[in-house]
Amino acid sequence: MSRVYRICLIEGDGIGHEVVPAARHVLEATGLKCEFVEAEAGWETFERRGTSVPEETVEIVKSADATLFGAATSPTKKVEGFFGAIRYLRRRLDLFANVRPAKHHPVKGSTPGTDLVVVRENTEGLYVEQERRYAKGKVAIADRVITYDASYRIVEYALKLARTRRKQLALVHKANVLPLSDGLFLEAAYDAAKHYPDIQVSEVIVDACAMRLVRNPQSFDVLVMENLFGDILSDLTAGLVGGLGIAPSGNIGEQAAIFEPVHGSAPDIAGKGVANPTAAILSAAIMLDYLGEHETARRIEKAVDITLEQGPLTPDLGGKAGTLEFAKAVAAAL
Ligand code: ATP
Ligand code: MG
Repeated sequence: MSRVYRICLIEGDGIGHEVVPAARHVLEATGLKCEFVEAEAGWETFERRGTSVPEETVEIVKSADATLFGAATSPTKKVEGFFGAIRYLRRRLDLFANVRPAKHHPVKGSTPGTDLVVVRENTEGLYVEQERRYAKGKVAIADRVITYDASYRIVEYALKLARTRRKQLALVHKANVLPLSDGLFLEAAYDAAKHYPDIQVSEVIVDACAMRLVRNPQSFDVLVMENLFGDILSDLTAGLVGGLGIAPSGNIGEQAAIFEPVHGSAPDIAGKGVANPTAAILSAAIMLDYLGEHETARRIEKAVDITLEQGPLTPDLGGKAGTLEFAKAVAAAL
């Protein structure tokens, strides 16, 4: 008897309303037993209810085995009382690991042989948002917080992930310039690594890492790093495998996990039914990895690749297919 997974679906805003149902369609076609629970969050929720993340959404996400999130729009101007839905949920639920796989898929601009995962620390670094101005506003300082415990926790997560893959972990840092803060990150990393003697651990300085990612992405398996480095390098790695329409991500903590496409709500194409659901479908696949359903996750990835090779494709990839038509082709390829 396979178990029934309780999956929370949050469409959010814009093309979230299109790509999440498309991913749901594919999940339903896998034959896995899922109970879907819908919840709301984002800008439209804020306009309707005065908060971008209602309390019941937090409860549903906590009670679910995993959550699939579409996208949330953030206004470009500051709006009183508004906060970004995903950032809030990351913080509220302590989703400390931001996981971004970059794997080659048969689309234009993707680098064959690439199969790596960037694990980004999601709770500290520069994102503690502590900035100050001095000297009549002519000097600004931003705190970059690195703690032993958060570093240990993220590296341990990455070590466990490496164990399910090719057993190689790169510690990305800038300890040559920041020996106290990034030195602490490395100290915690090696303490965690002692318990994983089967993993081959190496160090890469962040700038050299950026170049090696562009020139030789095939040489990486799992990379772990603090928040800002991870923010930047994971966009780079998304670019390596074909860009926004393709890249999935996960936000993972002890008590909850939220998976989402890297792209945003794409207001320019929202409502037209032409958004590419690949990133959402691949986010559903890595959600299944998180749930331990590795075989079904690989089947979804394979079906996506078959569809990307044979079509029909969405307009961003040069085709004419709609969002659901693409998802139906993926379901058929399963
Ligand atoms: P947000 O403020 O929600 O991040 P955005 O304006 O930054 O929205 P993105 O979603 O980040 O928009 O997308 C940037 C560009 O890429 C847009 O032109 C958008 O149409 C395109 N795009 C993003 N995701 C997709 C997708 N899934 N399918 C097709 N095009 C996409
Ligand atoms: Mg955006």
